[in-house]
Amino acid sequence: MSRASRRQYHQRLKGALDNTFLGQTLARFQGNYRGSRQAGFAGMDFEALAAEVGAAKDAALGQLEALYQQFKAQAEAAGATVHLAHDAAHAREIIADIAAQTGSRRIIKSKSMTSEEIHLNRHLEAQGLKVTETDLGEWIIQLRGEGPSHMVAPAIHLSRSQVAELFTQVTGEKQDPEDIASLVEVARQRLRQTMLEADMGISGANFALASTGSIATVTNEGNARLVTTLPKVHVALVGLEKLVPDLHTALKILQLLPRSATGQLISTYVTWVTGAVECAANGGKKELHIVFLDNGRLALSQDPVFSQALRCLRCGSCANVCPIFGKVGGHNYGHVYIGAIGLILTYFYHGREAAQELVGNCLNCQACKVNCPADIDLPALIKKTAGLVMAEQGRPLKNQLLRRVLTNRPLFHFLLRRAYLAQKPLAGGGRLIRHLPLFFAPDQEFRSLPVVAAEPLRDRWQRLAPKVSKPRLKVALFGGCLVDFVYPEQAEAFLGLIQGKDIQVDYARDQSCCGLPAAMASEEETAREVARQNLAALDAKQHDYVLTLCASCASHLKKYPALLADDPVWSQRARHLAAKVIDLASFLQKEVGLKPSAEQDKAVAYHAPCHLCRGLGVHEAPKELLREAGYDYRPYDDEEVCCGFGGSYSLDFPELSAAILERKLRQVAATGADTLVTDCPGCVLQLEGGLDHLGSPIKVRHLAQALAEAKDK
Ligand code: SF4
Ligand code: SF4
Repeated sequence: MSRASRRQYHQRLKGALDNTFLGQTLARFQGNYRGSRQAGFAGMDFEALAAEVGAAKDAALGQLEALYQQFKAQAEAAGATVHLAHDAAHAREIIADIAAQTGSRRIIKSKSMTSEEIHLNRHLEAQGLKVTETDLGEWIIQLRGEGPSHMVAPAIHLSRSQVAELFTQVTGEKQDPEDIASLVEVARQRLRQTMLEADMGISGANFALASTGSIATVTNEGNARLVTTLPKVHVALVGLEKLVPDLHTALKILQLLPRSATGQLISTYVTWVTGAVECAANGGKKELHIVFLDNGRLALSQDPVFSQALRCLRCGSCANVCPIFGKVGGHNYGHVYIGAIGLILTYFYHGREAAQELVGNCLNCQACKVNCPADIDLPALIKKTAGLVMAEQGRPLKNQLLRRVLTNRPLFHFLLRRAYLAQKPLAGGGRLIRHLPLFFAPDQEFRSLPVVAAEPLRDRWQRLAPKVSKPRLKVALFGGCLVDFVYPEQAEAFLGLIQGKDIQVDYARDQSCCGLPAAMASEEETAREVARQNLAALDAKQHDYVLTLCASCASHLKKYPALLADDPVWSQRARHLAAKVIDLASFLQKEVGLKPSAEQDKAVAYHAPCHLCRGLGVHEAPKELLREAGYDYRPYDDEEVCCGFGGSYSLDFPELSAAILERKLRQVAATGADTLVTDCPGCVLQLEGGLDHLGSPIKVRHLAQALAEAKDK
């Protein structure tokens, strides 16, 4: 990315963050979605169903060409004409030719992301055809000359006043923004007349069934039903990845699609079309053309890593749960396709230039991954896509430095020790640096930063290590950079909790960074190298557990087997280690059994680190421990929403990191808690720094510290 384009992108992000209406609307939308989705999936095993859908889609993607041939034979036997467009230009030409051959001048459309992908409207309008979107949101943005800002709710970025103003211009009559029914009526009257006069309807399709040659649309407004049935010509533009073998597979997907999109058990309309049906309005048979779009899909379906992206059902959930989308909306968090999947597909469908600004804008918070009904590992694919962009552009200097430093542990640790000396004058004797020279940290004023500890954990270890003669458990402690060099007191608090419990704890001096920062920077080889170094340092076989106080480290250590899957020397050790990795709360509950404490005089709120609640699936254990320790635990809505840290993300996107943090801290303050507890030192850094910057009296404690303080009382 050039400096100028990066600057422009950041300016766009800042512009979006300054849009108060957008921020409030997206926050409300995401909050409502969370509740509806939860209700929609109540009593269902979402994970198992998503895995089934993912597997069914993979099976279909493995035989796309065969499914296409089967579909074509079946659909043409039923009277349709099936076309295959190799790329966007080809698809546009096919559809324009159909319009010319059928004498169609007036075209109505229902929502189709595939048509957005090929910029169809622009092409048809340039041929002198009149194209009208009939989905309400799509019609609104068409009138404004914009693209959709969400796959399911395309006009989510607009206020009622903006819509009323637009409709005032369209009708020439003053429209009242408070009278929603009248606004809808304006759209209904205009669109109904246009629909009745149309020569051609263009739809997308959610499924294409190879066994019968049928297509299906899943909608809520009913306009797709009119688009596909009223005009004498119907053109369905369908991405090849929508092919599934049969109705059984489609219905399996249909169980999840509406629930994921809107929380509905089923959409209002699910319309199945097989062949050229009767067309009463025109007194004869309809002409049905089904145009399949390749545009790189066949090649992508063969890719062992990226074919996953083609499982996408276009439900929009990965945007609905993304903290970044929730702050800046789809026009800034996507190109045509938005949300997490948009960051990936943009590169494959629209090229590097369109993708390069977007693809680094991910916190790796995992929210999209755990909510995706097609079980796509979106954060991992985003990092891999960023790696492809980087391979084409050349590795930036910071990546080259990261590799040099992280793969050389003595150098890395030497630099961390030197950092203490460099930071000391800035901290003025305190634990936090409130003002960094701007050269070092542009836009970092939203939080104070901790100073590196004068004595890292590794230097304290000899005097801290529990002296246990007959251990019942042997634990290898993995510090991670932050506990080791910034917050050794968190490890000390943990050791206090297990005192007298016959637990041996070892701290291997050769352990290094877990490698997550390298993975975040798409430096896969560096991440693999660091993983090997840690495997050499930590002998999991000699220990019952590999415990870490850092949820991010724990989650990343669990990924070593995948990272080293093809490494003949280290893959087995990686599996051994991953099987023994445990987080603090689970360890305490399972192996220590802290005694319940008397009621504390403190109210605590809890921040769930992304890599704990989503990475490791640990949700309740930390809160149960806090309650047992006698704290007055205060919940809030966004407890499991990212704090905006994301390691180097907060340096690369400080404006977004600050905005996401601000929302979290506002909610925490509203609980009335006087302490905020979390169990990831990265989150401690972000939350404590943000609260200090605000001058808040709320203290931040690692779970180990909060429990130790309760025990000490
Ligand atoms: S990637 Fe998953 S969550 Fe995102 S739109 Fe596609 S199916 Fe939905
Ligand atoms: S990992 Fe988090 S920040 Fe990244 S795309 Fe997914 S939801 Fe958004």
